[in-house]
Amino acid sequence: MPSPAATADKPLSAPQKALRKLGLVRPIDLALHLPLRYEDETRIVRLSDARDGDTVQIEGEVTHQEVTFRPRRQLLVSLNDGTDTVVLRFFNFYPSQQKQMAVGTRIRARGELRGGFAGLTMMHPTVRAAGGALPQALTPVYPTVAQLPQPYLRKAVLAGLAQADLSETVPPEVLSEIGHLRLWDLRKSLSFLHQPTPDVSLAQLEDHSHPIWQRLKAEELLAQQLSQLEARRAREHLRAPVLRAERGGVHEQLLAVLPFQLTGAQRRVGEEIARDLGRVQPMHRLLQGDVGSGKTVVAALAACIAIDAGWQCALMAPTEILAEQHFAKLVDWLAPLLQARGQRVAWLTGSQKKKARGEMLAAIASGEAALVVGTHAVIQEQVKFQKLGLAIIDEQHRFGVAQRLALRQKLTDAGGALLLPPAGEGRGEGKASLASGQPLTPALSPEGRGRQMATEPHLLMMSATPIPRTLAMSYYADLDVSTLDELPPGRTPVVTKLLAEHRRGEVIERIRGQIAEGRQVYWVCPLIEESEALDLRNATETHAELSEALPGQMIGLLHSRMPVAEKKAVMALFTSGAMPVLVSTTVIEVGVDVPNASLMVIEHAERFGLSQLHQLRGRVGRGAAASACVLLYSAPDGGRLGETARARLKAMAETSDGFEIARRDLEIRGPGEFLGARQSGAALLRFADLAEDSTLLQWARGAAPRMLDQHAEMARRHVDRWLGTKSDYLKA
Ligand code: ADP
Ligand code: MG
Repeated sequence: MPSPAATADKPLSAPQKALRKLGLVRPIDLALHLPLRYEDETRIVRLSDARDGDTVQIEGEVTHQEVTFRPRRQLLVSLNDGTDTVVLRFFNFYPSQQKQMAVGTRIRARGELRGGFAGLTMMHPTVRAAGGALPQALTPVYPTVAQLPQPYLRKAVLAGLAQADLSETVPPEVLSEIGHLRLWDLRKSLSFLHQPTPDVSLAQLEDHSHPIWQRLKAEELLAQQLSQLEARRAREHLRAPVLRAERGGVHEQLLAVLPFQLTGAQRRVGEEIARDLGRVQPMHRLLQGDVGSGKTVVAALAACIAIDAGWQCALMAPTEILAEQHFAKLVDWLAPLLQARGQRVAWLTGSQKKKARGEMLAAIASGEAALVVGTHAVIQEQVKFQKLGLAIIDEQHRFGVAQRLALRQKLTDAGGALLLPPAGEGRGEGKASLASGQPLTPALSPEGRGRQMATEPHLLMMSATPIPRTLAMSYYADLDVSTLDELPPGRTPVVTKLLAEHRRGEVIERIRGQIAEGRQVYWVCPLIEESEALDLRNATETHAELSEALPGQMIGLLHSRMPVAEKKAVMALFTSGAMPVLVSTTVIEVGVDVPNASLMVIEHAERFGLSQLHQLRGRVGRGAAASACVLLYSAPDGGRLGETARARLKAMAETSDGFEIARRDLEIRGPGEFLGARQSGAALLRFADLAEDSTLLQWARGAAPRMLDQHAEMARRHVDRWLGTKSDYLKA
């Protein structure tokens, strides 16, 4: 039975669905969906006037057509415009196109012109029938997806532009702080950007340096700052349990049993977290530290504070294997300490047997489980905490946006109730008292005292992908950031080598050498997003190749589609040392700690992101042995490596410092993409560039609090206009 909602509404067409998927729902969303670039279809260029590399529109008669099969199947169409002949080349084509370009027809073709020995060519030009009026404005090309053709989207955008409310949302005195912002209001800017006249500098429009863009970037940054500030202020009104370590409690005990001294950075960050936990507002902190910087023990110490204070702590990792491997050590430390208090650690994972799960759920509900460790199964519907005081999310950037939003919601729901001290009584009894000296919000009026008040748990997120500090400050106005900027002593640096694919044989020799020394090796194959099957074949082939080259050795294979039990079995063999080589497709499962592993081989390293490469490399060099990372690369179709791929590999070879890597990643990719892909799954700043537009950013940071205080209504409209449904994402 279809749901009532589905029958009531007309089913959406494919382009409508695509619009929705792109977040283009309201007229204003469409109006703010700006062109990526423009095509100049206002003119027809003569071939004799065009230069190599120009993108041009030409019109002429088809003089020849053929399908050849060398080097691969392709359609060749010769087009003569009276001044010269160009060969149009299509690798993918339909019979309808062959018909459209039959010999003798006049057509209009638009594309990039290439000159060469064989004469002029154009690859995959856009083709239409000749004749017809030429457009007056430049043709915008919008970011889109396959199901949403440009002409459909163009119409939708123009309709949106006509319907959207574009009235001013920025007060004049705020605008006048930067003079030229007043030159172009939103309506003027948008109308122009969607339909620019052909006399404008295309380059300036496309690289966002045109003055019109200043206005749009300023508005976008302002919306972002307003939304973050709002979230921060809202959080100040929330209440969380005050968590403090107990004298002689598990926090002290853990410090005493740790087999090492904390690094200075760990101590400093530990104190920052302890301070947050001791406040009545929920903590909202990101702990960032390079791979191997020792985040887990910091998390464990935070958990101890919550437990000492009589509250529960939940610890989550993005995958089951990661959860298990990651926290095994932590549980080793904590379980005995908890046991002495009649408490325990609970595990919650998706693959758990019903009975085991039932037991865990009961322990969580009764409060016997002081620490709950697992995947996001930890925050599933049926899990009821007795009193959740602290939630820790490891590798938070690997959780999807939707998962993170759900998690935040669930955390709010899972918060305990805080018994407020009756009016007049200074400090309430026990663990859940309000710290003295904290300002009371309206929610804590005298009448509210003595009653139950909902609390939210404190939240600690951990990430091995450092965000450069300036970026963190401006981008996450709603987040406090702690940084572990020091590695524990005694690490051996990893030597990184770049090798072209044809030197694969040497790598295998090297593996043989490592095995002879009793060491272990990871071999990682890339994730090919478009095709899981291809992805798998790649790894399977490598696995077969290595098995053949290294007879008598156990070579393991790990990929995303294996059942969890099988994955665990393979991991156990590798961890125990019985399996010297592990071939793996998925990056995520490799988040393990095997100190005996001394060689990391990454195949098709050019396809990985910089931070991914860095994380993978961090899997070796954990023991005392000299370790190496080999990046095997191959250029597509025997050509040259792309510029960004080269820059990434070069950065890897030159530095092993995670922050330096992050800085270069930022340089190579730009902050939008850097944060977009990594932190949210959606590019949040579409137009502004935090590095380039720092003046506008400063302006927005200064304007946001004044707007919230003095022009609340305009501020609300502004955020709604720019972020609409997306404002949630900013908080995730
Ligand atoms: P990450 O920050 O990548 O999560 P881990 O917490 O897994 O790092 O720590 C990496 C390794 O370093 C672990 O084996 C951990 O026990 C060890 N370690 C953590 N802190 C210290 C320290 N201060 N001194 C020595 N070893 C430490
Ligand atoms: Mg970790």
